[in-house]
Amino acid sequence: MTDKELYESLTMERKNAYLIMKDDEKSEMKKLCDEYRSFLDSGKTERECVREAEAAAIKAGFVDLDTVTSLKRGDKVYKLNRGKNIFMAVIGSEDISKGINIAGAHLDSPRLDLKQNPLYESTDMAFLKTHYYGGLKKYQWPTIPLAIHGVIYNTDGEKLELSIGEKDDDPVFVITDLLPHLAKDQMSKKMTEGIEGENMNVLIGGMPIDAEDVKEKVKFSVLKLLNQRYGITEKSFVSAEIEIVPAYKARNVGLDESFIGAYGQDDRVCAYTTLRGILDIPAPSKTAVAILVDKEEIGSMGNTGAQSAFMLMAIAEMTEKLTGSCTITELNRIVSNSVCMSSDVSAAVDPNYLSVSEERNSSYAGYGVAIMKYTGARGKYDSSDASAELVHRIGAVMDESGVIWQTGELGKIDQGGGGTIAQYVANLNMDVIDCGVPVLSMHSPFEVVAKSDVYMAYRAYKAFYMSM
Ligand code: MN
Ligand code: MN
Repeated sequence: MTDKELYESLTMERKNAYLIMKDDEKSEMKKLCDEYRSFLDSGKTERECVREAEAAAIKAGFVDLDTVTSLKRGDKVYKLNRGKNIFMAVIGSEDISKGINIAGAHLDSPRLDLKQNPLYESTDMAFLKTHYYGGLKKYQWPTIPLAIHGVIYNTDGEKLELSIGEKDDDPVFVITDLLPHLAKDQMSKKMTEGIEGENMNVLIGGMPIDAEDVKEKVKFSVLKLLNQRYGITEKSFVSAEIEIVPAYKARNVGLDESFIGAYGQDDRVCAYTTLRGILDIPAPSKTAVAILVDKEEIGSMGNTGAQSAFMLMAIAEMTEKLTGSCTITELNRIVSNSVCMSSDVSAAVDPNYLSVSEERNSSYAGYGVAIMKYTGARGKYDSSDASAELVHRIGAVMDESGVIWQTGELGKIDQGGGGTIAQYVANLNMDVIDCGVPVLSMHSPFEVVAKSDVYMAYRAYKAFYMSM
C-alpha cells in the first residue's frame, strides 16, 4: 500500500452526493422531488399536511386503527389526532416487546397566525392583525405575496376550511413595508427591531362602501364579502385558527435544478420523506412507525405536539390489538427497546455566512442526509445526545444500505443553537438520534434544500425501517 492509499484508508472524506450517485438513483431522485414539490403545494399547514398524509396512507393500503379489532404481521394502520397528528405503522414479524422503529417529523412551520380579533381599518385600508408563530426573522415577511389558510366556523356552526391565495386567479395578501426614502430611522435600528410584531398587519381590503351611517366603511365592505362568501362574521375569528403563509408554489432552483426552494421545508422535507419511507417499505421484521407531529416550532407543547401522550396511546392500542394486551409494564418495555429517528432538518453551511459554522462538523447542502448526535445550545443544553452505541449502529445501517450521509451540528459553539423533538422522545427512555436534510435559509419564507439530500433522507428512513 502506498502512503497515499494508506492516508485515504485512514481518513474520512466528505463528498458531494451528486458525484457518487448512479444514474438510476438520480432519476429516482428527480421523480421523488417532483412528488415532494406537489406535497408542499397542497400542504401549507399542519392540518393540510395531515390530510395529504392520510390520503396517501389510505391509497397505500393503510386502514384506520380505530376500525380494526385485531392486527397481524404485515398489517398497515394509521391513527389521527385532532387533524394535526398522524401515527402510521406497519406491523413487523418480530415480537413487538423487542421494540419498534419510529421515525418522527413535524408538520408545523414558522408562520403568522391571525389574532382572535384581527380585523380593523385605518386610512381607508382594512388589515388583519397577526401574531407570529415560531422563530422567524420578521423582516423577511413584508412585501411577499401571502395566502390565508385555516379553520373557521360560520354562523350556522359549520366548520369551514379556508384557502385563499393559492389558485392563479385568487387574490393574495401582503404586509407593507416602508419605502427606503422614508426609512432613515427604521434602517438604523437593529434587525430584530426593524419590523415590529405589532406592525405585521396583513392588507385585506380597500374598497369602502358608501353607507352613510357606517363609520368603518372598508371594514364593513370586507365583512360583507366574508359573510357573502363564507357565512362568517367578525365573531367567527374568535375561535378560528387561521395561518398566513407565503402564497407561492415550490420551485426548482438553479439552472441545473439541483435545489428546491419553498416555504415550510422545515420540517415537511423530513415529514414527506418519512411518510414515503413508511409507505414504500415491504413488511419489515421490526414494527415500523412514522409519527408526524405539530407544535415543534413552539416547544413541542400541547396535545398535538411531541410531548403529548398521543404516541404512547397509539402504540398501546396497536399492541393490544396485536397481542391481546398492553399493560403499563409491557408498554414501557416496548418503548425502552425502541429506536427513534428524529427526522428534522439541520442547518446547511451558507457560504455567505461561513463564520457561523465550524467547517469540519457542519452539514453541507448536497452532501447527503445529516445524522446529528446532538443538537441543543450553550454546552449541549436541551440535547438528548445519542449514545456511541446508537450512532455506531445507525452509521453501519446507512453504510450497508448505500445511503450517502454526513454529520451535522447547529453552527459554531455559542453561536446559537436549537432543539428538535429528540429530547422529548428520549425522555421516554428510547434511543433517539436526529437525522434529516440540511436547509439553507431555514425558517425563511423560501427555504432551500438540495435534491440529493431529499433523496438520501428518503433512503435513510427506509434503511432505518428495514435494517435497524
Ligand atoms: Mn424542524
Ligand atoms: Mn424549525
